[in-house]
Amino acid sequence: MLNIALFGPPGAGKGTQSTYLIEKYNLIYISTGDLLRKEIKDGSRLGKEAKAIIEQGGLVSDEIIVQILEKTITDNPNANGFLFDGFPRTTIQSFILEGLMIQLHTKLNCLISIEVPEELSVKRLLERGQTSGRTDDNETVIRNRLSEYTLKTLPVLNFFRERGNYFPVDGTKTIDEVRTCISQIVEKELSKNLMNIVMFGYPGSGRGSQGLAIAKKYGLEYVATGKMLDEEVKNGTEVGKRIEKIYNDGELIPDDIVVPLIEKKIEHSEGVRGFIFKGFPRTLVQSYILDGILKKHDSSISKIIDIQVDTLEIIRRLDKRSKTDKGMPYDSSTERIVKRLEEHRKKTIPVIEKYKSRHDVAVIDGEADFDTVFERICNAIDTGAKNLR
Ligand code: AMP
Repeated sequence: MLNIALFGPPGAGKGTQSTYLIEKYNLIYISTGDLLRKEIKDGSRLGKEAKAIIEQGGLVSDEIIVQILEKTITDNPNANGFLFDGFPRTTIQSFILEGLMIQLHTKLNCLISIEVPEELSVKRLLERGQTSGRTDDNETVIRNRLSEYTLKTLPVLNFFRERGNYFPVDGTKTIDEVRTCISQIVEKELSKNLMNIVMFGYPGSGRGSQGLAIAKKYGLEYVATGKMLDEEVKNGTEVGKRIEKIYNDGELIPDDIVVPLIEKKIEHSEGVRGFIFKGFPRTLVQSYILDGILKKHDSSISKIIDIQVDTLEIIRRLDKRSKTDKGMPYDSSTERIVKRLEEHRKKTIPVIEKYKSRHDVAVIDGEADFDTVFERICNAIDTGAKNLR
């Protein structure tokens, strides 16, 4: 789940920024102000209790707030996450929010505070008052709302500062600029929880086709370096031309070509749940590089899958593949096949050995039909995810 609270004085632009966040991250929007206005419009008991307080610019009682929140939360049991606007408004409500999150077995990821000086709030609210139809958007009530904010709501920031999830944003900037700052905070938060899987296995073990299917099932971005290099060649980019020449010379593609391509892929993948790497890292050097790349995004490897297939079976599979249209140029002769297997044994097996001492490595028996192997990998991933929680 992704749970965000948008914080800031009335008129900071919380409502405006909410529209973007709920759409982008598919969140359920909870604006306690909107919910209260609806209760008032419906003439409910809660609405009647809240009406006079809202009209004076005061804060409605915590009892009322809890009741309207619980209703919305229980109405959305399968939510991807919640976006709170106008809540928590007091330190007591901050505890209530923590309690609600615990009840849902989740947590608040960030409290984003849109900060604007008082006079700008007043100016914006007076402007809004001309069209909003809100009885509380007039100067006397606005001043009251702002003094309630300073007195009762600002202390909320300390509560979240202490817990390390308070993120300030300069709300005097344009709507687009504020949105960009908020996006960066959320993306960074999401990247902390990425699920990053590395797929290992000899060529012909099924790591490519399984990797793709796993990516689809878990919403991960599939990062296959071989495929990325081929695409550059196909698109005739500058890098592609360099790669082509190196391919023709029969050399290995150097890391300073591969790494920027991986970085580009990661940077352009917004909103994914993680990455699945195939064909990288191939060497010990590349294993350090991958750690560095993930660290830059405050992330790390979550799981390693090593698909094992007997060498004779591998040779049989690669030979068979070379006779179909799925055959790769490097499957074309026994000499090449042996060279790739040797390369894997010499350079990549030490990487798996190194990972075994630090990470959760699942060794998967790859000698079965596609669906059976797929199920084995999924089980390994799901067990790992449970242990993480
Ligand atoms: P808003 O739409 O967030 O500006 O809220 C309008 C009014 O609703 C506020 O001035 C308060 O009177 C009331 N209100 C909204 N949210 C809360 C809350 N979390 N706690 C207490 N009162 C609230």
